Amino acid sequence: MSDCLFCRMVAGEIPADVVHSTDRVLAFRDINPQAPTHVLVIPKEHHRNFGALAAADPALLGEVANAAHAVAVQEGLVADGGNEPGYRVVTNTGPQAGQSVDHLHLHVLGGRGLGWPPG
Ligand code: 5GP
Ligand code: ZN
Repeated sequence: MSDCLFCRMVAGEIPADVVHSTDRVLAFRDINPQAPTHVLVIPKEHHRNFGALAAADPALLGEVANAAHAVAVQEGLVADGGNEPGYRVVTNTGPQAGQSVDHLHLHVLGGRGLGWPPG
């Protein structure tokens, strides 16, 4: 989709600070980080949100999830395959949740204490 910001990043039309890439998944640093690690993980193919991708291609959603964990490992957030210090994966769907880009993305957040419940 030529008018989609993240599709344009996949196409190389907009620069991205890429930290992980496979044939179907791209991960890059958020331009406005909310934590020391704040990486966005997306399918290279356009899907508008979590539910749309889950319905259309659950295997691809699995690849996106696997990439999110790989990023967390790479960022030192789960040392030695364990559970520490830890990280959070978030995806926002719709305006009330704060979705601002209509191309499914998982936020991978870590590197500081993360409050719960979220805002
Ligand atoms: P959402 O608000 O949809 O959950 O998340 C969209 C995210 O995309 C936001 O955290 C925002 O900072 C990030 N973002 C918006 N524009 C750009 C951009 O041009 N480059 C990068 N790397 N991130 C962006
Ligand atoms: Zn897109």
